[in-house]
Amino acid sequence: MASATPKRSVAIFGSTGSIGTQALEVIRANTDMFEVDILTAQSNDELLVTQSLEFNPNAVVIGDESKYEKVKTALSKTNIKVFAGEKALEEVASFDTYDVMIAAIVGFAGLRPTLKAIENGKVIALANKETLVVAGDIVMQKSIEHKSAIIPVDSEHSAIFQCLVGESRNPIEKIILTASGGPFFGKKPNFLVNVKRDHALQHPNWSMGAKITIDSATLMNKGLEMIEAKWLFNLQPEQIEVVIHPQSVIHSMVQFEDGSLKAQMGFPDMKLPIQYALGFPQRIKNDFPRFSFKKYPALTFEEPDFKTFRNLGLAIDALQSGGNKACVLNAANEIAVWAFLKNRIGFLDITAVVEKTMEYVPFIQSPTLQEYFESDGEARNFAASMIKL
Ligand code: NDP
Repeated sequence: MASATPKRSVAIFGSTGSIGTQALEVIRANTDMFEVDILTAQSNDELLVTQSLEFNPNAVVIGDESKYEKVKTALSKTNIKVFAGEKALEEVASFDTYDVMIAAIVGFAGLRPTLKAIENGKVIALANKETLVVAGDIVMQKSIEHKSAIIPVDSEHSAIFQCLVGESRNPIEKIILTASGGPFFGKKPNFLVNVKRDHALQHPNWSMGAKITIDSATLMNKGLEMIEAKWLFNLQPEQIEVVIHPQSVIHSMVQFEDGSLKAQMGFPDMKLPIQYALGFPQRIKNDFPRFSFKKYPALTFEEPDFKTFRNLGLAIDALQSGGNKACVLNAANEIAVWAFLKNRIGFLDITAVVEKTMEYVPFIQSPTLQEYFESDGEARNFAASMIKL
């Protein structure tokens, strides 16, 4: 009799977020294939404890050190190791006990632990696009050095990854990233100037964490994805196109050198790319709703409105310039989005903060990792000073 395949042991960094909780749903439905080894949260101690009691990981990390005692006490009747603080994220990423890291922390904070997991030779199911936006050259180089496979979770990049299966001998002519257009598709600056946080948080097709939802509304998300795609698929900037596709059914496309286009399609549901990344190369049977063309008589496509959604142009500038530009763009955007979510600045101010910060921070052509961290810090300080935080 054939022996059963061992379970894949999964470390979810950012388990309390939108991607993290959906990853746990996938694992819950496939406990014969996956087990949980590490869970981490920043401040949501209650959900972290609930998740830990259900999935019984080897270790958990709560980022906010003031909550350590609370988590430790709540898990005192278990064997779960409890850690706290930013450094602990890197420590547990260096453990040998897991196979796959789901990188689902939001923002720059995901970079260090993901780098540690790469150095540890782990498979990375990458949702945290900021890791590649900030230091894509170093991250990809390390992934080759340490034989750490990076499998995209972002739906567009998962689509491209899936289109490329079986095509290793066929160069890509270009990729086409689809964008829903977000809640303000078709709107102009005279409307956007008055947009408030609650409206911007209502995405038409996807339910996601707050930061990426705002990034989708400003189209910065698509710009970050262009940069992410450059590193993941080793592309030149001119090989990456964006098209608005409001139905979010085609998740992205690859065009090959014979002009053939391959697309990956399905309902907008992040559980599918999460499951694909966890199970790769196997597709796991599931009972998710099936797509029906009859219910979608029209799939439509349009050019992005670069004049109104200027963040996309700023991201393309960073993509083309290389060096530390994308790192600076990302840092300024994180600060500006945070300020918008706190009702400190208006919707259009996000772009102004990013643009001015990109002008201010000196350009470095080939930054070291340390220089990326310094550029990030400098950009954050400048952006915060503009907002007077
Ligand atoms: P959420 O805001 O929903 O979740 C973020 C997670 O990271 C939470 O577990 C949070 O903990 C934790 N966290 C927040 N700040 C820190 C920090 N400073 N240090 C350590 N952990 C922290 O985000 P999403 O799940 O929406 O997104 C996660 C990543 O995946 C982002 O990079 C996003 O761009 C990407 N992504 C998300 C998609 C989605 O559908 N949501 C789609 C494609 C990509 P706590 O809950 O305690 O605050």
